[in-house]
Amino acid sequence: MKLYSTNNTLSEVSFKDAVFNSMPQDKGLYMPISIPRLSDDFISNLDKYTLPEIAFEVAKSLLGDAMPADDLKALIDDAINFDAPVVKLDDNVHVLELFHGPSLAFKDFGARFMSRVMSYFLEDGEKQLDVLVATSGDTGGAVALGFLGVSNTRVTILYPKGKVSGVQEQQLTTNGQNIRALEVDGTFDDCQALVKQAFTDAELNEKFRLTSANSINIARLVPQTFYYFNAYAQLLRQGVKKVIFSVPSGNFGNIGAGLLAWKMGLPVEKFIAATNANDTVPEFLKTGVYQPKPSVATLSNAMDVGNPSNWVRIADLFKADMEELKSLVIGFKYNDEETVKAINWVFDTYGYVVCPHTAIAWQALTDYQQDHPATDTAGVFLSTAHPCKFPDVFSDEITAKIDVPAQVKELASKTKLAIAISKDFEDFKGYLLNAK
Ligand SMILES: *Cc1c(COP(=O)(O)O)cnc(C)c1O
Repeated sequence: MKLYSTNNTLSEVSFKDAVFNSMPQDKGLYMPISIPRLSDDFISNLDKYTLPEIAFEVAKSLLGDAMPADDLKALIDDAINFDAPVVKLDDNVHVLELFHGPSLAFKDFGARFMSRVMSYFLEDGEKQLDVLVATSGDTGGAVALGFLGVSNTRVTILYPKGKVSGVQEQQLTTNGQNIRALEVDGTFDDCQALVKQAFTDAELNEKFRLTSANSINIARLVPQTFYYFNAYAQLLRQGVKKVIFSVPSGNFGNIGAGLLAWKMGLPVEKFIAATNANDTVPEFLKTGVYQPKPSVATLSNAMDVGNPSNWVRIADLFKADMEELKSLVIGFKYNDEETVKAINWVFDTYGYVVCPHTAIAWQALTDYQQDHPATDTAGVFLSTAHPCKFPDVFSDEITAKIDVPAQVKELASKTKLAIAISKDFEDFKGYLLNAK
């Protein structure tokens, strides 16, 4: 696999370099130079494969000679060791549950795969890899649990004090081993600014081998294609042939991976980009004008993004034909009041609890299907996180119905290991230089 920067289509780097650099110097994003098309035979027989088998075939065709097949297979079996079931709620309404990994969010796919790819490419005797990551909640947990115990790596997570949910904080702060958590007296933006400054600090770069685990890393995008193919496989088993996906979107990595899967030959009729009030992309799809704006805070806070960083990738995938993108993807946006209404409607109708992000995808699917009735087409909305991660948004009646997984119950008895720092860079730098 060779990749270029979206800002310089003549550039060329290896998969390994793209993974460790995360972002090209020219501030574009890495994209594969060639996107393989999977055979029609493979696609029409997807129902005969398991998730790890599908993941291996898809990854092998994307990565090519970047990794020997046996090593890739072992890596995938280790990383993708949990399920992504499609659950039927109603005629033509299905939910793709992506929250069965260790941090209970879809980001486990990206984080677990990336951590293992990085560890694989670290050669014997190489300097320990120091992963820095700022989180508004879900990324930190997925990255912490993804890298936990991965040899020759150390992770430092910065999270905004008092601004992540209880479960999220426990996932970040109770690990020990090679995971360190810094509780920053500031906002998510402050955390992100600290990480960015660290990457430009000469002394830190001299002393440590720094890398980033943010959502633009190509090793997080690749594994997110797997579950689209696997969802289609499950629908084939039910005799469904046509499918539309509704994706709750913030930085647009998740839906970007779906569009990549489509480019690789997955037959999808439509993608729905479902957002909260941060509606830069739905506005673009409606007006043709891409106008980033400052983010606004909502109940679905993992989607509070005013300038989605993966949008560049999607634009690049469709650079030859923007009209194709506009006919394949439709945008919907909802405010907090509509989000709560959707949560309650899904619960009252199906007895099923959705997190606020997932609720938005369900509502968008429902509104789309109202306008485009098609009895032969399965609508699938992606459930990006387990509802127990966001307890504050639910009524008592709904909270009582949430099945809290055992691993979350165990977290309560673990000790919080977080170091408090200010949002001052010298504080952060001092910690990195002096902590043992
Ligand atoms: C990160 C996240 C999203 C947004 O995904 P993107 O890939 O950034 O579009 C949606 N829901 C949940 C629960 C998340 O953690």
